[in-house]
Amino acid sequence: MKKQIKALEQKAQKLEPSLEECRELSRQTLDYTTNFVESLDEQKAYSLFSDKDGSLEHIPFSEEPRELDELLNYLRTQVDARGLNPASGGHLGYIPGGGLYPSALGDFIAAITNRYAGVFFSSPGAVHIENQCIRWLCDLIGYGPEAGGNLTSGGSLANLIGLVNARDDSGITAADFDKAVIYTTRQVHHCVIKAIKFAGLTDAHIRLIDMDERFRMQPAELEKALQHDTDNELQPLAIFASAGTTDVGAVDPLDDIAGIARQFNAWLHVDAAYGGAFLLTDHGKQKMKGIHQADSITIDPHKGFFLPYGSGALLVKDEEKLFQSQHMSANYLQDTEKATVEPSPADLSPELSKHFRGLRMWLPLQLFGITPFRAALEEKLLLTRYFYEEVQSIPGIEVGPEPELSVLFFRYVPENGVANEFNRRLMDALHADGRVFLSSTNIEGTFYIRLAVLHFRTHLETINQTLEILKTKIRELK
Ligand SMILES: *Cc1c(COP(=O)(O)O)cnc(C)c1O
Repeated sequence: MKKQIKALEQKAQKLEPSLEECRELSRQTLDYTTNFVESLDEQKAYSLFSDKDGSLEHIPFSEEPRELDELLNYLRTQVDARGLNPASGGHLGYIPGGGLYPSALGDFIAAITNRYAGVFFSSPGAVHIENQCIRWLCDLIGYGPEAGGNLTSGGSLANLIGLVNARDDSGITAADFDKAVIYTTRQVHHCVIKAIKFAGLTDAHIRLIDMDERFRMQPAELEKALQHDTDNELQPLAIFASAGTTDVGAVDPLDDIAGIARQFNAWLHVDAAYGGAFLLTDHGKQKMKGIHQADSITIDPHKGFFLPYGSGALLVKDEEKLFQSQHMSANYLQDTEKATVEPSPADLSPELSKHFRGLRMWLPLQLFGITPFRAALEEKLLLTRYFYEEVQSIPGIEVGPEPELSVLFFRYVPENGVANEFNRRLMDALHADGRVFLSSTNIEGTFYIRLAVLHFRTHLETINQTLEILKTKIRELK
């Protein structure tokens, strides 16, 4: 048996390349990534891949090893040259992502050392770093010492945990879910509707509160709905307000909504996945006034703090409530209860074994300091206003409301012909060009083009280029 074990050890040894080989693999990888960053200016923001292009090439898994060069080349041609390029400053669609370089280094370190960031007992240091990130976000909100939260994989998961916390705190049980009511607007992110399904709350009533002309929840309408429902023996479960809707960037009047939530003893969740980072700016603070009164808040560091995808956060005003909702013990984890100097992520979310997610946020914040983040966010706000003003000088352009943060929408109204059809073709032409990427939306049957400015690589030149491309495409299509 020993001989057999030794023979297997020999074969399995491949899994541990020599230090020399590790250095060489790292060098090749680093070459790949630095070349990628260096060539970003020449890369498209979008490269359409359609049926006409056939299918993607494929390298099958095999018993035999392959060379890293071959695999990196595959990534270069089959992955990084196709579809949307979220690392490009020309990404001005949906909500742009980020990809700060030191974040990748944080992920790299975390993957090599593989600290177990789920429980304090396993890695007090890793959990401390995660808690430091959460505390920093709580301070940004204006939350008190009882606050806490969890670093999630994204906003969808944060909204789901927030809703489950609201559900558990309400004391409403399954038998009465058909008497529970959730209040929001038509602008709410669709992941909230998914969360309602995952939380088993499809029997609950969803009240879509009327919005004003800028797509913000009308507090008077919310109050009326709550009054009507409570008069009719229904139970408010949660209000889902938005601080920066994905579609049009609307910020609900949080201060007024918080007052009403308190009056009716309803849980207030604010989805600030997109808008939350603007709390670093005076403008954002003013727009989101009152946000600290929310019971729970979603904020996505992979949006406004420019981290790579995979970084969301749920923040709660009262961490004890989140613990009550999410904590569960298991016999085999009894040792971990010895050390609970700080809260553990595993007690505050559905995840157990988890990536040391905090390092990708902690490293860039430490390395760069907060100042450049604030400056970049202020720059994005101004770039959006600049575009809003400049685009109106193109004859035929009709704009939506003044942008509250960094999302706006507009369309071209042709002198003759159907506007929706023209703008659909204009959108297609912009996508086919691909130097910048904008996306579209449908507002009450009208086709609009959206602009979302949030990438740390988007600057004045990008916006000027976008205006030029827009003018050219309109001229060509007329
Ligand atoms: C992006 C976004 C979400 C979803 O977050 P993911 O990180 O994509 O899961 C939810 N709400 C709003 C307002 C968003 O902008």
